[in-house]
Amino acid sequence: MLMRRKISIILAAVCMAAFCSCSFGDTNEETAQKTEFFAMDTYMSVTAYGEGAQKALELAKDEVERLDKLWSVTDENSEVYAVNGGGEVSVSGETAQLISFMLDMAKRTGGALEPTLYPVVKAWGFTNGENRVPSGDEIQSLLKNVGYEKVSISGNTVTLPDGVMLDTGAVGKGYASDKATQVLKENGVGSALIDLGGNIVLVGSKPDGNEWKIGVRDPDGDGVVGIISASDCAIVTSGAYERNFTVDGTVYGHHIIDPKSGRPVDNDILSVTVIASKGRLCDALSTALFVMGKDGAVAHWRDHRDFEMIMLCKNGQAYVTEGIANRFEADEEHSEMKINVIEG
Ligand code: ADP
Ligand code: MG
Repeated sequence: MLMRRKISIILAAVCMAAFCSCSFGDTNEETAQKTEFFAMDTYMSVTAYGEGAQKALELAKDEVERLDKLWSVTDENSEVYAVNGGGEVSVSGETAQLISFMLDMAKRTGGALEPTLYPVVKAWGFTNGENRVPSGDEIQSLLKNVGYEKVSISGNTVTLPDGVMLDTGAVGKGYASDKATQVLKENGVGSALIDLGGNIVLVGSKPDGNEWKIGVRDPDGDGVVGIISASDCAIVTSGAYERNFTVDGTVYGHHIIDPKSGRPVDNDILSVTVIASKGRLCDALSTALFVMGKDGAVAHWRDHRDFEMIMLCKNGQAYVTEGIANRFEADEEHSEMKINVIEG
């Protein structure tokens, strides 16, 4: 079930990539090398061009799989699993960096990104696909153990009070996409498309020198609403269409939880796509901006200006920050969609 939804998301990305390479230039398909695999609970694909691409892809895949083993919340042998057991736990440098980054982003977003939501996410069944609706009392009691300020980290030692548990789900894939990018670059790849379950990194431009074309999925359907043209950046979308479920006729949002209520976010946004230089920033922000809602997200952009975003809202309109506005084009079937430009 969970896997099927992910497949459709990834297919949209894969189709767009294929569509792009056929329609927008003379990409030299002969030099394209691709690897596809399942990690971090989602489908991943990496396409790289040029000599040595095959070897580089293998190393990038190894890197993502290695990080998955460290950061999985469900694998009993992972470092994050050990941390979630409570007490003082010594972890590797990269796990310490991931946790520090999540805490920094939690602070920056006023707790909209909440790395300690794991018990709540689990209670809704998002960790195993067996969805249920927890009672108000259950949620309130679980929320007592939620709060990024309860986590302490000193060097490579992480300490969690009993009952407090980290969830790497909102940031791990983005962080891994940056590590995969680094591996590709170190191995001489100058042109690649990394897609870790919708966490996209564009390395360089297309081999023919043109920009990549990336589709922004239609939250209400299977197609895309528009296309971003870009190079050398990361693009990540968090949307209301992922992993939603129905109980007694009520559709329960999706897997992004409002840390204040402990319930799936229900606001004016359907999806947020973030474009920035690093995948980890995009991943953390797409989740957090989704929680904030349109006005909160706009205020956050005005305060920071280190990312661009495309928000698709329930009023059928798109809201696009000025730095990406001329690189985002509505799809033919959505030419009527109103695109509002957010200015600084
Ligand atoms: P995806 O993982 O589908 O790409 P996100 O990056 O938006 O989507 O991450 C959602 C995941 O993050 C959830 O499955 C859950 O594990 C976790 N999560 C849900 N709500 C929050 C939140 N407010 N802050 C941090 N993590 C969250
Ligand atoms: Mg995210």
